[in-house]
Amino acid sequence: MLRAIRLVVFCVLFLSVLGFAQNNSVQPQLQQPAALAPLQTFDINAAVNAYLAKMPAARRARSDAYFEGGYWLLLWDFLVSAFVMWLLLRFRWSEKMRNLAERITRFRPLQTVLYWLQFMIVTSVATFPMTVYEGFFRERKYDLMNQTFGEWMRDQTVGLAVSLVLGAILMVPLFGLVRKLGQNWWVWGAVLMIVFFTFVSLIAPVYIAPLFNRYKKLEDVRIKDPILQMARANGIPAKDVYEFDASKQSNRVSANVSGFGSTMRISLNDNLLNRCTLPEIETTMGHEMGHYVLNHAYKGLIMFGVVIVIAFAFVNWGINWALARWGTAWGVRGITDMAVLPLAVIVFSLFLFLTTPVTNTITRTMEFEADMYGLNAARQPDGEANVDMMLGEYRKLDPGPVEEFLFYDHPGGRTRITAAMRWKAEHPETASTEEISRVLFPQK
Ligand SMILES: [Zn+2]
Repeated sequence: MLRAIRLVVFCVLFLSVLGFAQNNSVQPQLQQPAALAPLQTFDINAAVNAYLAKMPAARRARSDAYFEGGYWLLLWDFLVSAFVMWLLLRFRWSEKMRNLAERITRFRPLQTVLYWLQFMIVTSVATFPMTVYEGFFRERKYDLMNQTFGEWMRDQTVGLAVSLVLGAILMVPLFGLVRKLGQNWWVWGAVLMIVFFTFVSLIAPVYIAPLFNRYKKLEDVRIKDPILQMARANGIPAKDVYEFDASKQSNRVSANVSGFGSTMRISLNDNLLNRCTLPEIETTMGHEMGHYVLNHAYKGLIMFGVVIVIAFAFVNWGINWALARWGTAWGVRGITDMAVLPLAVIVFSLFLFLTTPVTNTITRTMEFEADMYGLNAARQPDGEANVDMMLGEYRKLDPGPVEEFLFYDHPGGRTRITAAMRWKAEHPETASTEEISRVLFPQK
């Protein structure tokens, strides 16, 4: 009660002092900068809605349906994979694959490799109908696919070969650890996994990405020069920017930061180059530079490292629980037997499925930070809003808050455009009439 009275007294005193200052005009009048003038008249929400209206309704409905279908695919992918893994255990195929590997060699690391090869081929074949629907026919249906079936199959085969090799590189030391440490494998297993992720991101831009797309240094000085200028201004020691022929696969506009340490680089795809204006390219590059300057690769590794430690602890618990019940029926000798892999995959993908909102929030938060960085670096809020609209071709533009929290690994269109317009409201001099009036989705 006493505190409330004190607060009221304080407020009255404070307000009367303010009133005194205003009435008597003892202080010199602060000059209002001219540029701030539109601040009062600029309606952020109206500007956001005007951008969202750039996409024709039919197109918007198609993009929404595509993205919402993806929510269900999360569930179906998990269920299909779990079902296939269960078949491998229930009908003792996993046990047979292990027996075959042991018959061929007595050398344990090689046994792991041989089991892994059989496992990958069998599961890829078993889940193939789902893969084709999801990766080819569905993309085709929503007009997001530029490949023929043959070209798509070629990419799938290369992808499988990469998984075989990289998976073997992971599985040999991982099962070595399990055999050495028994029930305590999961802590060091998680450390190994983090080292493995680092290794893969280190080699990815140099050895993996070029298997799917042709990468070359960006030569066009009209684009390269402003980008490198922005890079220098932001303390990025880049001499080159890379471009790649993503139009081979689809029309999606995109750019990325890839690599680790010395292989880290910024690449932009040719759709971005062909479909976007310079301000739009600049704001996208500003976003990518944000990932770089804010050390998102390293922070992401730490945050996902924590997720992996918890995931492996869960996997360890889940495996022991299930083996105690069905281990004998499945012919799996124990946690150190590589025939346990299908079970490990079930428990691990259950964990990832349940923690999707957590992992999404980790990336979405960093993406939003990169957006803020890009706005400040490129100073192109209208270009940013246009790019956000173009990303709306494959990501629902205006989700509800819960939907965005659960399913979005990047902020939704409305969130991103609102941030851009909020920034513009404070920097009215950066408004661009060309960008505002630009038609993004010409009606065919
Ligand atoms: Zn990003």
